[in-house]
Amino acid sequence: MAEKAVLHSFALFTDSKKKRVMLDNVRVVLVGTTHSGNIGSAARAMKVMGFSQLVLVAPECEIDGQTIALAAGASDIANNARIVSSLEEAIADCPLVIASSARSRTLQWPQLEMREYGQKAAQECRQHSVALVFGRERTGLTNDELQKCHFHVTIPANPEYSSLNLAMAVQTLCYELRMAWLESEAFQGESQSVEYPLSDDLERFYEHLEKVLHDAQFINKQHPGQVMTKLRRLYNRARPESHELNILRGMLSSIEKTFAGMKR
Ligand code: SAH
Repeated sequence: MAEKAVLHSFALFTDSKKKRVMLDNVRVVLVGTTHSGNIGSAARAMKVMGFSQLVLVAPECEIDGQTIALAAGASDIANNARIVSSLEEAIADCPLVIASSARSRTLQWPQLEMREYGQKAAQECRQHSVALVFGRERTGLTNDELQKCHFHVTIPANPEYSSLNLAMAVQTLCYELRMAWLESEAFQGESQSVEYPLSDDLERFYEHLEKVLHDAQFINKQHPGQVMTKLRRLYNRARPESHELNILRGMLSSIEKTFAGMKR
């Protein structure tokens, strides 16, 4: 009996090939990292939780001896990291992008509580790519970068000393996701799959929307103000599904056609 229980729990912690695909759908994105050792520690933090996809956005350091030393047995993840020049490039094909950020007072954005984040990411990595985005050691993520993410999640640390070391923040988010994923494995029924647009498709939509709002003179090109930021926040909060985004794009196109007809 005791042996059975041990075997059961072992099975729970063994990642089968199919399950691995889900975990491989999770991408850890480190933006502008300055300390090479942190990349190694982040790689180790990922591997112990079963994740492997690391993307470095414009790193300010090389993968060096320090990286490999701190990665320990996870140097494969650091060595295979994809290096890109912008956050946009790193997340273009992701329908769910979550920023790990200490709570910002200046930018109100859809927030997920830790448990909620774990459940959402664990559920969606069954269907598509999920990006977890982490900022620079000194300055974190810029407002522009934060606005490219659907949700923000904050580790509820000591309010008087709330900033974790980068790799420890990676560890915490990976652990939370793994816990939710293990739990969902145990209760997995047929989940309804919803198709969400890729981050890149959303960017094209925002460009289209901005253009139509300029043409309609709703946004003044010289003084654009905060309208686009607020609209981004609104659509991010609503999280349109792919077919809903198609409707929005269709609406914008017919408005454009009507404008063109009026100008003639
Ligand atoms: N001084 C920076 C701290 C950067 S720490 C700032 O104020 O943003 C490096 C990265 O670790 C952050 O960009 C974030 O991605 C992550 N991080 C650190 N502490 C965190 C916390 N409490 N919650 C969520 N992410 C955190």
